[in-house]
Amino acid sequence: MINFEKVNKYFGDFHVLKDINLTINKGEVVVVIGPSGSGKSTLLRCINRLETISNGMLTVNNLSVADKKTDINKLRTEIGMVFQHFHLYPHKTVLENITLAPMKVLGQSEEEAKQIARKYLDKVGISEKADSYPAQLSGGQQQRVAIARGLAMNPEIMLFDEPTSALDPEMIGEVLDVMKALALEGMTMVVVTHEMGFAKEVADRIVFMDQGQILEEAIPAEFYENPKEERAQLFLSRIL
Ligand code: ADP
Ligand code: MG
Repeated sequence: MINFEKVNKYFGDFHVLKDINLTINKGEVVVVIGPSGSGKSTLLRCINRLETISNGMLTVNNLSVADKKTDINKLRTEIGMVFQHFHLYPHKTVLENITLAPMKVLGQSEEEAKQIARKYLDKVGISEKADSYPAQLSGGQQQRVAIARGLAMNPEIMLFDEPTSALDPEMIGEVLDVMKALALEGMTMVVVTHEMGFAKEVADRIVFMDQGQILEEAIPAEFYENPKEERAQLFLSRIL
């Protein structure tokens, strides 16, 4: 579903992604970990072309992301993204935040969009907050709204960039639970997170990045019990 083939990315002279080879199949949950600055966010952002790759081949559903002929807006409707900081519109209600894109981009009627939004709010467990404003919600609730907003576009892929790292510890679980449920339903997910419990339970694969390279790819049990790369061992010893 997502395929990186010898992908490189530069910011000016800075080589941020180095010869990335990575395949993510439909229904897989891949967790990306690695030190700060290793290129995890950039890797994720290339998938929906929030960043452009410098060379190599990156395809989503067999469509080249960099190709000018690829309808990037259509591609983006198939990819939901959840960020560390929720990026909700502060002056819109929860319901308005969720219905905006489906109405604008998918052409849904307000009625239809609201009905779908309520379905997903229910799914993330905060249907009673539909008419609240983001500032009236806790961080964990805001992040669940952000997830519902992504899901309302009916994407095939969900990207999560450190979705719990801005949250107070007591709210991390509620967001991870929503993500786990999504994974169990078969959503294709790429998740940048250092939450080891989540990774062990849900991930099909761990991808360890350092200095712009993928140094190790393994199933969670293998990676956490017996990391092969020295830099992965060092990294784990620091976060555990
Ligand atoms: P991570 O998510 O693993 O912390 P990032 O992908 O955010 O890493 O960043 C990787 C490196 O690229 C960092 O050194 C960062 O400073 C740099 N970088 C990220 N975005 C830009 C940008 N827009 N321009 C220049 N450098 C950037
Ligand atoms: Mg990052």
